[in-house]
Amino acid sequence: MPSPITHPTRPPARRPADFFRPRVLRDLAIYLACMLPIVWGLVAVERARFASLAESSTRRDLRNYARVFTEEVRATVGIVDLSLLQLRSTWLRDRDSFAQTVGEHARHLRHRVPMLVTVIDAAGRLAYTNAGPSHTGTDLSAYPAYYAHLEAADDRFFSGRPVMSPLTGAWVVHFSRAIRDRQGRLLGVIVAAVSPDYFVRFYDDIDLGPSGSVSLITVDGAVIARSTRVDRHRGIGSVLKDNPHTAHSPITGSFRRVGQIDQIERYYAWHRIPEYGMVVTVGQSVHDAGLRFEQQRDVLAGIGGTVSLLLAVLGWAALGATDRRRRALKALAAAETRWKLALNAAGDGVWDCDVVTGLATLSSRAQRILDTDRALVSLYGSALDAMVHPDELPGLRAALRSHLAGRSADFAFEFRVRMKRGDWSWIEARGTVSERDELGQPLRMVGTFSNIDVRKNEEARMRRMAHEDALTGLPNRVLLGDRLRQAIRSAGRDGHKVAVIYFDLDKFKPVNDTHGHAAGDRLLQLVARRLRAGLRDSDTLARIGGDEFVVLLPRCAGIQDAAIVADNILAQLNQPFEDGELTHRISGSLGIALYPDDGMDGDALLRSADAAMYDAKSHGRNRVASHHRDEA
Ligand code: GH3
Ligand code: MG
Repeated sequence: MPSPITHPTRPPARRPADFFRPRVLRDLAIYLACMLPIVWGLVAVERARFASLAESSTRRDLRNYARVFTEEVRATVGIVDLSLLQLRSTWLRDRDSFAQTVGEHARHLRHRVPMLVTVIDAAGRLAYTNAGPSHTGTDLSAYPAYYAHLEAADDRFFSGRPVMSPLTGAWVVHFSRAIRDRQGRLLGVIVAAVSPDYFVRFYDDIDLGPSGSVSLITVDGAVIARSTRVDRHRGIGSVLKDNPHTAHSPITGSFRRVGQIDQIERYYAWHRIPEYGMVVTVGQSVHDAGLRFEQQRDVLAGIGGTVSLLLAVLGWAALGATDRRRRALKALAAAETRWKLALNAAGDGVWDCDVVTGLATLSSRAQRILDTDRALVSLYGSALDAMVHPDELPGLRAALRSHLAGRSADFAFEFRVRMKRGDWSWIEARGTVSERDELGQPLRMVGTFSNIDVRKNEEARMRRMAHEDALTGLPNRVLLGDRLRQAIRSAGRDGHKVAVIYFDLDKFKPVNDTHGHAAGDRLLQLVARRLRAGLRDSDTLARIGGDEFVVLLPRCAGIQDAAIVADNILAQLNQPFEDGELTHRISGSLGIALYPDDGMDGDALLRSADAAMYDAKSHGRNRVASHHRDEA
């Protein structure tokens, strides 16, 4: 059998086996051991970024949907209430044409909110219904929509939990108002029954993926309406355990959890509707949200694989030929540039930091993001002070230190960087240690920079909207609550007083009725602007409801001080308001309450001021009242 040794004439230099000499293989292994962790480190950083981007953009979209959904529900419930008010006055004034008016309403609202109207007499018996054949006299006193009005003397709008209607056998939600005579005695209750479906029609207009859900629940967790692609009614009437919303939680927010009705893990955004005690929620499954950036993640894995292969082939070819060693080094440098370029193309600036010196090499995109001409910047010491906003500097240093010490798996931090023009830009830095010495000490760290101004601006806008009344731009009830708490805390420490002036415009409804809702809106804006201009910067003017406002004086010597401000507000309200062709002459009723005299916390203080305002109303309006003992 012939052996290879019998062919000594073959030229040794051209043998392919040269490439597999142990020395070349060792060099190649060392080279790949250095390069591959960097490539895959950067790929991992990018993948983590897409995952968190998917989460944050999903949450943002859901919050926006929840806001739109809230307006839908407000409009729908508003129509129901308006119908109840109009039908009630027909019932009181013109009983004979009641059935005809109900018919007209039903025809008119057929496509918007079909509702069934029932009137229950004072003793709880059916007096009228347009839900099929009428069994006048049927006992309906067990309806919450009826007995809720027995204890309450005020004209409240009742909205209930869904019930299975005994009249139609379908799920309905009841809304009602009491019918009273001039002396306030209960004559009966008028009830509108609406199918829960009408509250979640919104679902058909948006695409939340196969496992999305929208629902409307009461603040105590009872499901009023719910819609998913699978099932329109599942869960209606049930009460959610572990309900995250309360009457005191913020107006809007988002969270991630496993759905209590169908056990699907979702991101949820919710928005509270305080005036009806309801909460809307919109959810998208975590799985569907992740699909958003699936393609980008695949592309990244592809880039990582291609670059690794390229490095291996180049390294193998270059290192294998000793006579081409010099060219090989050049080719390797070019390869390194190429993979940085490839990752740059994925959207971010790349940085590569020598941990020992703290010097980071920036890709051209990273330079653009940091707005610097230098390709080498120091991430240690005072160089960072000049670059990063002082508010984020300590946090950034701590996050870097903690990652280098091995206490965090990934480094990620958001901070502001000074641009050449002197303004600040929000940056997100992500990174990971890509190389360690034999003792495990970090030697090299790679990562990305991305500009996140757009997201930060959107977050700031959402925060502002949560604290701002959309019509007038004044602080809303939530922000007023915060400031009130703060004022009380500081007054508790220093011993001064806090004054709250609660006021409501007199006879505002006729402005709407005579000149239209838009004119009413403009008047509210004019009132807000004039009163705001007349107050000190440290005082808060908030709009907390339709035509209700509150002035908070965080530092006040006593009732006389507050009364001067209140008289001044009243005088300003009495000055005519010019709105184009229109001139409005209005007045207001004001109530004052003081901390600590009239209440020890914000809610008590607002209640006391509201009660005083109510006194001002009942004593003829256009005046200031207070329950204070030293009243002048
Ligand atoms: P009162 O003297 O007892 O205060 O009577 P009023 O007519 O001012 O009525 P009330 O304060 O009870 O109700 C305020 C009305 O303001 C109810 C609603 O028609 C109207 N309203 C509520 N919010 C808005 C709004 O955002 N824009 C407009 N244009 N009107 C609103
Ligand atoms: Mg009013």
